[in-house]
Amino acid sequence: MRTESKAAVCSVCDDTGWKPVGQGANRRMTRCECRLRRRGESLLEAARIPKRYEQCDFDNFQTEFPDLSPSDQEYKSLHSARFLAGRFVDEHLPGQGLLFIGSTGTGKTHLAVAVIRKLIMERQIACLFCDFRELMRQIRQSYDPAVQMTELDVMNPVFDTPVLLLDDLGSAAMTEWQRDTIGYILNKRYSDGQTTIVTTCLADKPSPIAEPSEAGIGRSRTLEEARSAMRERTLGERIGDQMRMRLKDMTRTIEIQARDFRSRKN
Ligand SMILES: [Zn+2]
Repeated sequence: MRTESKAAVCSVCDDTGWKPVGQGANRRMTRCECRLRRRGESLLEAARIPKRYEQCDFDNFQTEFPDLSPSDQEYKSLHSARFLAGRFVDEHLPGQGLLFIGSTGTGKTHLAVAVIRKLIMERQIACLFCDFRELMRQIRQSYDPAVQMTELDVMNPVFDTPVLLLDDLGSAAMTEWQRDTIGYILNKRYSDGQTTIVTTCLADKPSPIAEPSEAGIGRSRTLEEARSAMRERTLGERIGDQMRMRLKDMTRTIEIQARDFRSRKN
């Protein structure tokens, strides 16, 4: 196979894309890294990972803090989240997604980006980063009341990319139309056997109506109470209980129970 590029010629494979490995009887041909790297680089560009998350990978996901000891729940949660995300990449099967749950600043997006970067660079799988608010904005802009259809240019990559990272699901209120569109996206990806990775700050609970009200209101707040007050909006409330159940069918849940890393002393 010849490369179309007239740029630098690979000194290992002379741009054939194949190189020999092994000695004697074990000698065989294998894909040259230059080919994999080039494919990885173009997939990485196509993934549209925002600049602030560009460098996020497993190695720089911080789990060690001076104020955390290995017996702390937070320490265990951070380590377990990183382990489960890494295992997801190793075991990746199309159609099986991830749902990262955790309050702001716990590293959900960092790990989710680490997952897609690894799927891109090591498995050459096309991925797309999609910010929930930005998607809502695009749906709103492209919505034409006359045809009641969303521009396909906007939506096609969201439907077609094998792995979609939908970041910060439910971070803004949705109109009926937007909620239907998100539901349609998730359903279509599910039935097409595509992988969807979702992060959310919302509590992984049904709509509040379905849950008895919590006792202890008015007491002084513990850390846990303050945290749950911050996340009092539930996933079920924002996206609907039905869509939440569908999301659970499509994904494995990784919950990160940790403080906002920006509040930590390093
Ligand atoms: Zn090469």
